[in-house]
Amino acid sequence: MAYQHIQLPSTGEKISVVDGELRVPDNPIVGYVEGDGIGPDITNACLRVWDSAVAKAYGDKRRIAWCELYLGEKAAGLYDGDYFPAETLEATKDLLVSIKGPLTTPIGGGFRSLNVALRQELDLYSCVRPVRYYEGVPSPMRKPEEVDVVIFRENTEDVYSGIEYRSGTPENEKLAKFLREEMGCEFFEGAGLGIKPISAIGSKRLVRKAIQYAIDHGRRSVTLVHKGNIMKFTEGAFQQWGYEVAREEFPDQTITEQQLWDDYDGVAPPGKVIIQDRIADIMFQLLQLRPAEFDVLATCNLNGDYLSDSAAAEVGGVGIAPGANIADHIAVFEATHGTAPKYAGLDKVNPSSLLLSGVMMLEYMGWQEAADLINEAFPKVIADGTVTYDFARQMEGSREVKTSEFADCLIAKINAA
Ligand code: NAP
Repeated sequence: MAYQHIQLPSTGEKISVVDGELRVPDNPIVGYVEGDGIGPDITNACLRVWDSAVAKAYGDKRRIAWCELYLGEKAAGLYDGDYFPAETLEATKDLLVSIKGPLTTPIGGGFRSLNVALRQELDLYSCVRPVRYYEGVPSPMRKPEEVDVVIFRENTEDVYSGIEYRSGTPENEKLAKFLREEMGCEFFEGAGLGIKPISAIGSKRLVRKAIQYAIDHGRRSVTLVHKGNIMKFTEGAFQQWGYEVAREEFPDQTITEQQLWDDYDGVAPPGKVIIQDRIADIMFQLLQLRPAEFDVLATCNLNGDYLSDSAAAEVGGVGIAPGANIADHIAVFEATHGTAPKYAGLDKVNPSSLLLSGVMMLEYMGWQEAADLINEAFPKVIADGTVTYDFARQMEGSREVKTSEFADCLIAKINAA
């Protein structure tokens, strides 16, 4: 397809899928979206670090051919006010792997979240957020090193599916009338109404990915997080469908927590992933008081949103938490924080969320050596006390550096490795 503004670099080759597996050439074209607000600051810093890690790991043999894609305010400037150009969507599908900075979403009106639209248009059904501790990062926990979870959050359903009717509209009144008169429901006059669809298809494909991840990475358990005691036929169903996937599709690799105690006296046999579930509210407490007991978490959309930010706060906050939105093959890695508009263009904020999302991306591409170089350099830079303002205000004796300087420090460590 010929693009209007997107320019595929002639030096690169597209990533493809062969026999169901990702095939990554040595010069893959990878898409990136700068994002709004602080997006350009963090993206420019991270591109330099990722390139340095790849160069250090593979010399001239491998190189990412970056391809800029446009969403948000930069897109609106280029595409005559269109914040979500169709060709960006096309290119994201075509290139398979891309990474993006944060995008602005107005509250209570204006256009819908571009992030949510992207996830839904590309059916990026699993939001993957690993939350782990890096030595030296300021944390409110007594033992932050015990936090090491990977959250798989369902990305396309739940109250995020956009089926909402504003109070006072004809659609709202029609639905309210149906609910009251035909379904016998009771609620206040003029209530805004939203629908929470949760399906077997959506739940199972998410839990399937979480279990497969746990098996592939030698993780001990998958915890299904839900509020099924109250929302029985949505979140309760999510829990039941989760157990069903484990039972039907992974009978040899999984056991339930019940079986763990009934048949194995609480000691999991080697090679078996324990499938358990917890109610969402207690999960927040458990993740603070007994984080070591949890490995992989599978959640519905809204719970996962809250839980992943809350978990991130235990090990440095959203300024450093990475994330990815992944379908069966298309993957969009992204900073998990927003556009922090008050810091836009100041070269001030922490680029680590996007940086570590890039580490996830390198791992996803199978470029583990480059990912490792960044993972090893990161705690060393923090240990030197060279940190951006958000960490500096929590770390006595540290030296506050700009976003770009933080990237320079990382590159120096990578090159010295
Ligand atoms: P935000 O942009 O994440 O900023 C909230 C606060 O988090 C900032 O004021 C700052 O705290 C801290 N922070 C965020 N990014 C940081 C970084 N890289 N380094 C250090 N600290 C960082 O959230 P918001 O103000 O609620 O949202 C602003 C806009 O972003 C909204 O339009 C929202 O819809 C959008 N948003 C987009 C995404 C996305 O694209 N994935 C996600 C969330 C929000 P201090 O003030 O304490 O320094």
